[in-house]
Amino acid sequence: METGKPQATTDTRQQLDDLRAAVDSLGSFIFIKDLQGRYTYVNERVRNLFGLPEEAILGRDDSTFFSLDQSRDLRENDEQVLRQGRAIETQERNVIAATGEERWFWTVKRPLVSADGSIHGMSGACTDITEKVQLERALREKQALLETVLDHAPACIYLKDTDRRYVYLNHRTAALYGHDPDAIVGARDEDLLSHETAENCRGLDDRVLATYAPQQGEETFTAADGRIRVYETEKVPLLSEDGTFTGFIGFSRDMTETRQLQQRLERMAHEDQLTGLPNRRRTEQVLEEELNRAHRSGQPLSLLALDLDHFKSVNDHYGHEMGDQVLVQLGVILSERLRSTDTLGRWGGEEFFVILPDTDLEGAQQVAETLRQTTETSIHAGDTPVTVSIGVTQYDHSQTLRAFIQHADGLLYRAKHSGRNQVALISSQAAFR
Ligand code: GH3
Ligand code: MG
Ligand code: MG
Repeated sequence: METGKPQATTDTRQQLDDLRAAVDSLGSFIFIKDLQGRYTYVNERVRNLFGLPEEAILGRDDSTFFSLDQSRDLRENDEQVLRQGRAIETQERNVIAATGEERWFWTVKRPLVSADGSIHGMSGACTDITEKVQLERALREKQALLETVLDHAPACIYLKDTDRRYVYLNHRTAALYGHDPDAIVGARDEDLLSHETAENCRGLDDRVLATYAPQQGEETFTAADGRIRVYETEKVPLLSEDGTFTGFIGFSRDMTETRQLQQRLERMAHEDQLTGLPNRRRTEQVLEEELNRAHRSGQPLSLLALDLDHFKSVNDHYGHEMGDQVLVQLGVILSERLRSTDTLGRWGGEEFFVILPDTDLEGAQQVAETLRQTTETSIHAGDTPVTVSIGVTQYDHSQTLRAFIQHADGLLYRAKHSGRNQVALISSQAAFR
């Protein structure tokens, strides 16, 4: 009875068919090539990739299927396996001839060795990793974009963990510390900054860590070069995908120049350009504040209206510039005679107001007399002494601001009419009774 061998042949053929079916079901490209690089076996995925039936593939080499001049990896790897007998596991970039499409493969290639030790071909198993490579490339491009944005954004941007240690900081932030970002990651502000600056930055850190809610505020920062800078800062909590609080991201915009400009504009709005004294608007504001204060406290308040005598002739004789110099000098010299709580303001032209809080009429008269004498002895236009006339009045606690001012002006007028270079006073109560 013939048993065994024919049965074995059937079994072997069946086994081979099963094996082919199994290899066809694999997600990878499986093939065998002879020593000349011609295909002797390809699985279904390879046939689908080339879009050809088996008989159109077997016996042909890769020059039919790939743009070999653009698929250097493939040629070099096959060469190494077939000529040097080396097994290779690597990433390959190949261009399909039929479509011109670029595909990436994870490739395992091994030499096929005969019983006598000679190489008669190679086997290959390639997995298409094009999507993964494209995703990685897109991710790298996004990361590069993000880094460009972060490093060129007009703000300090940084990430801190719940321990207030830097996880990330852009170059603008690192420049404040005078280091590279890498040297700062892992450190806290107190490791890098003066105690005062670190404490100043800590306020908002602590608030965002305590509330898990965005916080905004102003931070003052002494930079590595010693310059003080003011920042407008927002700190926003960060949550990981599972909802864990991981720290916060900070955005700090340098407001130093803007604040300085604001202060300059505010100063300009209140300051007389020529003398640097409070201008009319500011003088009126101070007077109103002092009036209200005196009204509340019951303390005395006095006002001097002071005008340069014959100032027109100073200009006429010595020129407008000399006139200007006299006005500046007067501001400086009279200020030296006053208390820090007094206010000397330029009311307009060559008329000045002196606001004297907590001063009654008698005290105000003494101040006025001092100012009159100081002017006469200290200020000259050429050889001519400059003099002033002054009206002195005390607030009567019932007047309006207008009436108070008009009263001082009226007394100044009286001093002028009485011959100038003198002080005129009468209690406001008396004037209005
Ligand atoms: P009186 O004693 O009556 O006050 O005489 P006066 O000449 O001082 O008064 P008048 O009101 O006739 O003239 C004021 C002069 O002050 C005229 C004006 O050109 C001058 N003046 C006002 N503001 C300035 C200024 O900013 N600079 C200079 N140089 N002169 C000024
Ligand atoms: Mg005058
Ligand atoms: Mg005048």
